[in-house]
Amino acid sequence: MSNGKRVGQAEGHVELRASIQGLTRHALSAACYDLSVFALVAVPRSAPEPLTYSIPRELEPFTVAGSRVRVPMRERQLTGIVVEVQAASDLDPGVIRPINEVLDPQPLVPAEELQLARFIADYYRCPLGNTLAAMLPVRLLRADSETVSLTPSGVGVDAAGLDATSAAILTALGEGGSTRLPALLAKVGSRDRRALDGLVRLGLVEVRRRRRDRPPPSEVTALRIADRPLEQLLEECRRAPRQRDALQWLSDAGRPALVAELRAVVGCSHATVRALMDRGAVVSFTQRAPRPPRWALRTAPERHALTDEQQASVAAIADAVSTGGYAPFLLEGVTGSGKTEVYLRSLEDVLERGGSGLVLVPEIGLTPAAAGAVERRFGARAAVVHSAQSDGERWREWRRAADGETRVVVGPRSALFTPLRDLRLIVVDEEHDSAYKQQESPRYHARDLALVLGKRLEIPVVLCSATPSVEAAALVRRGLATHLRLTRRVAGGSLPQVEVVDLRGEPPEPGEQGHTWLSRRLREAMTETLAAGDQIILLMQRRGWAPLLLCRDCGTRIQCPSCSVSLVVHRRSADLRCHYCGHRAPVPASCAGCGGTLLDAVGAGTEKVAELLALDYPDVPVAILDRDTVRRRDGLRHSLGAFAAGKVRVLVGTQMVAKGHHFPDVTLTGVISADALLGLPDFRAAERTFQLLTQVAGRSGRGSRPGRVIIQTYFPDHPAVRHATTHDVTSFLDDELLFRNAFGYPPATRMAVVRYESRDMKAASTAATQAARAATPLPPGVRLRGPAPAPIERIRGAWRWQLLVTAPSRDLLREVLERIEAAPPVRAVRMVVDVDPLSTL
Ligand SMILES: [Zn+2]
Ligand SMILES: [Zn+2]
Repeated sequence: MSNGKRVGQAEGHVELRASIQGLTRHALSAACYDLSVFALVAVPRSAPEPLTYSIPRELEPFTVAGSRVRVPMRERQLTGIVVEVQAASDLDPGVIRPINEVLDPQPLVPAEELQLARFIADYYRCPLGNTLAAMLPVRLLRADSETVSLTPSGVGVDAAGLDATSAAILTALGEGGSTRLPALLAKVGSRDRRALDGLVRLGLVEVRRRRRDRPPPSEVTALRIADRPLEQLLEECRRAPRQRDALQWLSDAGRPALVAELRAVVGCSHATVRALMDRGAVVSFTQRAPRPPRWALRTAPERHALTDEQQASVAAIADAVSTGGYAPFLLEGVTGSGKTEVYLRSLEDVLERGGSGLVLVPEIGLTPAAAGAVERRFGARAAVVHSAQSDGERWREWRRAADGETRVVVGPRSALFTPLRDLRLIVVDEEHDSAYKQQESPRYHARDLALVLGKRLEIPVVLCSATPSVEAAALVRRGLATHLRLTRRVAGGSLPQVEVVDLRGEPPEPGEQGHTWLSRRLREAMTETLAAGDQIILLMQRRGWAPLLLCRDCGTRIQCPSCSVSLVVHRRSADLRCHYCGHRAPVPASCAGCGGTLLDAVGAGTEKVAELLALDYPDVPVAILDRDTVRRRDGLRHSLGAFAAGKVRVLVGTQMVAKGHHFPDVTLTGVISADALLGLPDFRAAERTFQLLTQVAGRSGRGSRPGRVIIQTYFPDHPAVRHATTHDVTSFLDDELLFRNAFGYPPATRMAVVRYESRDMKAASTAATQAARAATPLPPGVRLRGPAPAPIERIRGAWRWQLLVTAPSRDLLREVLERIEAAPPVRAVRMVVDVDPLSTL
C-alpha cells in the first residue's frame, strides 16, 4: 500500500510554514538531528496511506515498527502507528516533520500482526490506519476531542472581510461559548476545518484538546481495613453512618475490596471513601485487576474415551503440530459427533509442547457451549474475549496474552488479532457461520484470515463444521486441505429422521391467502411429542407478526419511508417496524393512498406462530427467540434458560434456534417454511438454506430418545431441501460446486461488490456508471455485472447502486478494483467495497 512518497503536511504553503515553525520549536535539539532515519506512520481516518516523518535522535531507540507515536498533521497532533522504519527517504528533507512522542515503551502491535494488517488493508481495500485501529482491542488510536471557543480578542470582533464560513464560526461561538468541534462544524454546515485553522492563526479562536488515546489502566485501586481494632475504628466514625457501613462491610467481607465494589455494595460516595482514607481507617493500594468471575465454571467434565474417528483426527492434528508448517484441516462432523473434544485434545497437546492456541467461535452469546468447554478444560490459562466486556477487561486480556500469561484464547472474529505468544494452532469452530464476516470496513472474513495467518506463522488451522462452507469444501477438493470426518454421534443413536411436507397439498387456513403455517402432519407430530413429555423447536425465519400490511382496495403495501421494503407488523408492541432502519409507526386505520380501511396483515412471523400454538395448545408454555426478545435485557439467557429448565415446552425462533444449543429433551424440530431464503436473489441462497436446515435438524434427538424433523416447503425437489432430508452434505456440496462453476460464482472466481450510496439517486447511479467505465476494458476472464440498483434499492434514505465484479484470480480482481477506486469521486456519494461478499443484496 505504502509508497513512502507522501508527507504529513502534504500540499500548500500554510503547511510548509507550520513545518518550519515545528523545526524552530525544536531548535535546541535541531543541532543533534540526523534526518537520516524516517518512519512511515499509519494514521487512522486522516490519511489513506502511511505518511513519512523523521525520527529525532533521542526517540530513535523507541521508534520501532508497531509502536504508537504522536505526529503533527497540519495544526493538529494525531496518534498513529509506526509501520516501517527507513534509513532514507526520497522526499525533500525540508518538508518532513519530526515525530513528537513515542507512546508505548514496547511496540503495541507485534510484527506478525502488522503483516496481517497490511494484508487486510490491501486485500479488503481499507486504509492501513483504519485497519490497525479495528484490530486493537480498545480505541488506542482515537483522535483528541477538541473544544473550540473565542479568545478575548475574538470576542465582538468585526467579521467583515472574512469568508462566510469563518464569519459563521465566529457567530456560532459568540452565541454558545465553547463548543465541541464536530458540533460546531455541523452548525456552520462545513466538513472542512480550514476556516477554523485560519481563525486560530489569527488568534481569534482557540482549540482545547483532550487526549483520548490512553489505554485503560491495567491496575485498579483496592482498599483494606487499617491494622487497628474494628471497635475503635467504628467508634471514631460514629457520626458518619455511611463510613460505618463501609467499614462494617469491609470487615464482614474479610478481604480487600475494589473501590468500585465497595461503592456499589454499600451505596456510598467517593467522598466517603476519601474520608475513610484520610482518617486512616482504610488503606488503599493498587493491584492487578482480577479476572471477572467465570461464567461457566463448573466441575471439570469427565473425560470420555475417544471414538476411533475422534482418535484419528486428534492424531492427524497432533502430527501436523509436531512437524510444524502450514497445514489446513477441515474437520467435518455430524451434529453431536464430538468435534469440540477433538480440538480440545489438540489444544492440550499444543500447550504441553509449550505453545498456545486460538479458538474462534461465531458469537459468544449464542454459542456459550464452546467457550464454556474451553474454559473448563484450561481454567486460568484460558481467556474468553467478547464484545460485551468493558474496555478495561478487553485490554487486560490482551496484555495477558501478549505477556504469555494466557495460553488459550476463545472469542469471536476479532479474537483473531489477540497477540498470543508462540501461537501453534488456530481452530475455527462453525466455520460456515456468517458471523465471521465483518459487516463494516475492514470487511474481513475471519475464517479466511485464520488461513492467511496460519500460512504466515506456518502452523495448522482446523476448520470445524457439520455443514462446511462451499469455500472449505473447495479447499479439500483441490487438495489444499486435509479432510477429517466424524460420521457418528458420540452418544450413539442415529441422526434424526427427516420428513418433508409438501405444502402444495395442504388445505389453506382461513384468512391466510391460501397459506398453511402448521400442516396436519406437523400438528400431529407436535401433539405426540408433547404427550410424551418432550420439547419442540420451531424455526420461523421472520420475526414480528406479519411481514407486510396490504390494502385490499388498491393493493398498496405499506412501505418504510426511508427503505424500499415493507413495514413489518408487530403485534406485541402494536406497531409497524422497518427491519432495516428501525423506523416505527402506529398501525394505520386506513390506507394513505386510497383511504380504504380493509388493511390485511399478510404472511407470518414468529409472533403469529406463537399465537397459532396458543390457540391449539392453550396449556403449553411457548417462548420466542429472535432479535426482538434478545434485545431485552438478559433476553437470550432468559429464553434459553427457561427452555433448558423445561419451563418452556416449545421454542419458536429465527436462525438463532439453529445454533449449537444442546437440549437433550428436544425430539422434534419443525421448519415452518424452508422457502424464505431460497427465494432471495443471491448466489448463496441454496448454501444458506441447506446449512440452516441441517443445523436446525441437528437440534433434535440429542438425548437418549430418537429425534425427528419436519420440513414444510413448496419446493420439495430443491437440492438444498432434498439433500438436507438425507443429511447428505457431500452430494449437496457436489451440486453446489457444479452450479458455482457453471455460473462463475465463488469459489470458482473471486468476487467483490462495489456499492455507491447516496440520498441523491442520480448521484449514486452516475458514480456507478463512471466507475464501470473506468474499469473497462476488462482484463480477460473478468466479468462486471451492473451498474444496477441493488436488490434492496434504498436503505435508510440512501439509494444504492452497485457493480458486481468477478475475476479468475485475486490479482486481476485487485487490478480492476484499483481502477474502479481511481474513478473520479461524485459529490455526496459513499463508496463501499466488499471483497468476498457474503451477500449481494
Ligand atoms: Zn389503498
Ligand atoms: Zn426503513
